[in-house]
Amino acid sequence: MPSDSTDPQVVVVGSGIAGLSAACRLQQLGYSFLVIEASHRPGGAIHTEQRRGYLLEWGPNTVRPTAAMDTVLALRSPEDPDPIGSSSIAQKRYIVCKGRLRTPLRTLSCSGFQRLLQEPAARRAPGLEENIASLVRRRLGQECLDYLVDPFLSGIYAGDPQRLSARHVLRPLARYEKNSGSILRGALTETLGRALRKKQKSYNGLRSFPAGLSSMTQALAAPLGNRLELGRTVTSIQKKTDQRFLLDTDSGPVSTDQIILTTPAHTASHLLHPLDPSLASHLDSVPYAPMITVQVGVHRDQIAHPLDGFGFLCPSQENRKILGALFTSSIFADRAPREHALLTVFMGGRKHPELLSLSDNRLTDHVLSELDSLIGMRGSPDLLRIQRLPQAIPQYELGHDRILETAQNLESKHSGLILAGNWLNGISVGDCMERGLRAADQILQNRPPEQVSGNA
Ligand SMILES: Cc1cc2nc3c(=O)[nH]c(=O)nc-3n(C[C@H](O)[C@H](O)[C@H](O)COP(=O)(O)OP(=O)(O)OC[C@H]3O[C@@H](n4cnc5c(N)ncnc54)[C@H](O)[C@@H]3O)c2cc1C
Repeated sequence: MPSDSTDPQVVVVGSGIAGLSAACRLQQLGYSFLVIEASHRPGGAIHTEQRRGYLLEWGPNTVRPTAAMDTVLALRSPEDPDPIGSSSIAQKRYIVCKGRLRTPLRTLSCSGFQRLLQEPAARRAPGLEENIASLVRRRLGQECLDYLVDPFLSGIYAGDPQRLSARHVLRPLARYEKNSGSILRGALTETLGRALRKKQKSYNGLRSFPAGLSSMTQALAAPLGNRLELGRTVTSIQKKTDQRFLLDTDSGPVSTDQIILTTPAHTASHLLHPLDPSLASHLDSVPYAPMITVQVGVHRDQIAHPLDGFGFLCPSQENRKILGALFTSSIFADRAPREHALLTVFMGGRKHPELLSLSDNRLTDHVLSELDSLIGMRGSPDLLRIQRLPQAIPQYELGHDRILETAQNLESKHSGLILAGNWLNGISVGDCMERGLRAADQILQNRPPEQVSGNA
């Protein structure tokens, strides 16, 4: 049955970076589409705030450049600002070890180092799906797990290595072991291979924008015009008798042939329940790590540490109240007023959800006492702001295969439905951009734009 000429051919639910990447690509391909976003601003997790001379990132602070990022940025207007690179001192990273900040390799003892070097002779993987703690302990040793991998996972996933799936989270490590029989040998082979294939563009460092990451999402949103509806919430998705999708929203229904759904897993589960109750209910089981972000602005003289790096991470072993902190004003220029510094502190995560229920005063006390003890910060901060996200980061834990299988089954059973949330396979901004682009290309494969009546 032909579609009503006013109906969009595609509806994108959510205007985070995945939804925006998909929408800009659909615009380039000439589709009629509508992006429906519940919040009153585009960008989703990407959220920059300017406050009293500080530039606060409440979501991601940095983006690792990728080919997908190049493609997405090329979809903006040529006048939009270019990304900026992180400073060279941001290459230095610190880990807390016995209460002090050390560079990562200095956290290992001689025996820890020796154990690391014995990796090529370590036991092979068991047949079963393995958690990260087990893979790293087996191949690289306990110290490497405690002081390198555990804090790294806190920094990216706010996750727990006992529960995270090695295959889904540390994809390269699992691949090196599978292909080369050793993580060290596999890493070396891939690095050398890349160096020899000189033609391939290499992506180094980290990126942001002079006015923060929200300037990128605003630049992607602007050309969408009234094809992006902010402050409109999708409440359910079902199929009509003519096999088209019917999206109920808080301001009336919308019909469409194809949907790109970029919401968190629990929202996808709820929205898809009327369409497919049994499959949709599985999506509600994706765990999320809660996260508290505390922005601390302070006069530079109040901190003894030189802040000469990206920041520091706290291994669980160290029993600190915080997961780590970014030296935000050392990573990019103009993040704090002159002679001031901005620190971004993270707390909570999968291992400490109870911290979310603490009052602002208790959280502030914890943060200030940890910063005093770890980087010698004294006195009252010039700025202190707190954000609590109860469901911040999706966790790819043991059993994640079943979630991916469910997503595939939903897509094949309900032709025209494309799931593109960050709970599938990659949480970084670059991963989400790639997923958005791929979703739009899948739409193109399903049905070209010229078949639509009333197409823009
Ligand atoms: C605190 C934090 C720090 C991070 N740090 C980094 C980092 O430094 N580097 C990095 O690469 N990644 C980082 N990430 C991860 C990365 O930012 C996210 O994975 C990514 O931005 C998610 O984009 P998305 O488009 O998939 O989803 P989202 O950004 O979550 O967008 C989904 C959108 O859907 C909308 N929506 C939800 N329900 C509905 C509904 N019913 N109807 C309509 N709209 C709806 C939401 O309002 C939202 O705008 C961080 C994440 C967090 C939370």
